[in-house]
Amino acid sequence: MNFPTIKVATRSRFGATGFGQISLAYMGSGGFVAVALLIGLLLQWAGAGPSAGLVFLTAVLMSAVTYGLWPGLFACVASTLAYNFFFFPPLYTLSIADRRNAITLVIFGVVALIASNLAARIRSQTMATEERAAMMENLYLFSRKLAGAFTLDDLLWAIAFQFANMLHVRVIILLPDGAALRVRAGYPPEDRLDPIELRAAEQVWNSANTEDQDRGTAPHSKHLFLPMRTGRGPVGIVGIESDETSALLTDEQRRLFDSLADQAALAIERLNLSEDIEKARLTAETERLRSALLTSISHDLKTPLASILGSASTLKSQRSALDLSSQDELIGTIHEEAERLSRFIANLLDMTRLESGAIEPKLEWIDLGDVIGSALRRAGPVLAHHTVHVGIDDDLPMLKLDPVLFEQCLFNLLDNARKYSAPGTQIRLRAIRSDESVRLEISDEGDGIPDYALERIFDKFYRVQASDKKRAGTGLGLPICRGFIAAMGGSIAASNRPDKRGALFTIVLKVPAEQPQDRAA
Ligand code: ADP
Repeated sequence: MNFPTIKVATRSRFGATGFGQISLAYMGSGGFVAVALLIGLLLQWAGAGPSAGLVFLTAVLMSAVTYGLWPGLFACVASTLAYNFFFFPPLYTLSIADRRNAITLVIFGVVALIASNLAARIRSQTMATEERAAMMENLYLFSRKLAGAFTLDDLLWAIAFQFANMLHVRVIILLPDGAALRVRAGYPPEDRLDPIELRAAEQVWNSANTEDQDRGTAPHSKHLFLPMRTGRGPVGIVGIESDETSALLTDEQRRLFDSLADQAALAIERLNLSEDIEKARLTAETERLRSALLTSISHDLKTPLASILGSASTLKSQRSALDLSSQDELIGTIHEEAERLSRFIANLLDMTRLESGAIEPKLEWIDLGDVIGSALRRAGPVLAHHTVHVGIDDDLPMLKLDPVLFEQCLFNLLDNARKYSAPGTQIRLRAIRSDESVRLEISDEGDGIPDYALERIFDKFYRVQASDKKRAGTGLGLPICRGFIAAMGGSIAASNRPDKRGALFTIVLKVPAEQPQDRAA
């Protein structure tokens, strides 16, 4: 499990200062005073004795700034004593002979006291500002993290982690699931809650849904449960638990909790909304596809069936009255329409197989020229009214393709080229070798494809113009092509011919790194 990397404030406002840290602070202050004493003695030796007071004052200031009020006061007392002991006669005693010296010492003590107080206050203000800045940065990073989460699970992990890190508590997050609440994330990871705790969480959830006031948790619960809410209402519950016996959240922590909970609630709501929108979009898309399928089926099944039925019943009832050529014509219609029906059904089946993931290409080494040849043979009857020009580079490598899928794809493209261009025009097929791929281009001399539709024509049931609907077709041929080619590791794109009017379809196929043995030899 990857936990989000969120910067955490290094100095905790809420963590208690350890005993070790306290004694270290007093030792540090003592050290400052000792150094001041040493410097004072050196100055006295050099004949600048009265400067010692200033040096001690510096030690007091440094102690207060570095370690805070109490170590500062400690330095203040220690300095006063050392000043007296080492600098005022009688030396090396704590008594003072001269009244003027006594006054100097008292003034020194008072000044040191005031200075240490002020310095300590500045220190604590600076620290508070730094902590607030770190907290703001943390909240800012948190909000960026939330904005970057795309799944609800990622989002909830980030939220639980952030609560745990900033408040130093264990966290559990519950979201509504139908009528009940369900544990969705926790830090440390947790996916269950004992029934008493769950009931407490549900109470908070119910009261959050009915009242404006957040009542928190009943006293018997180990967790403190609080709702996360947006302007539209509560979106979930955060449960926090800590080993500390004191109140779980101080006022400041509660404020921090609230701002975390607000951000989290908004992010959860954003994701819920986008999930709802996605669901609505999918439903609308399914609905559109269903009605497109129904229209397509009713049109594309009914039209050929009606022709077949009409021709067959004419043949049956009036065969004797028809001359041979009329009979041939009717039989031809039946054959042609049955083929159209069969193509349509094959397309529907291919699409179903593609969508259910049942297509597994059986890749084998093939010579592109061979597959092109067999696709052209199969499409021969439908291409009867067009001239087909084929150009294949000589040094084409062998490719790893599924010949059946690839031939079907070529057939669909050739069938489209003839459907969407006038009879008598030319269809061009070119296979070109480049460094790591082979490009296969199929172009015609029809009206081409408008720019806005170049990508959409690969969508299911999409047909560019109303007039296309008069031509037999399902809007499935190209999505099937793309599905097949992608399954074989290639790509297909549509464009318009640069040299003249007409559509151009380009298939790019990767050349395998190694060629088969017999070919290589
Ligand atoms: P169908 O041809 O059965 O309608 P396709 O998925 O094969 O379905 O093609 C989708 C749409 O793309 C077609 O309806 C047509 O509008 C457009 N199209 C496909 N091939 C060509 C082409 N060669 N020239 C112009 N338009 C084309």
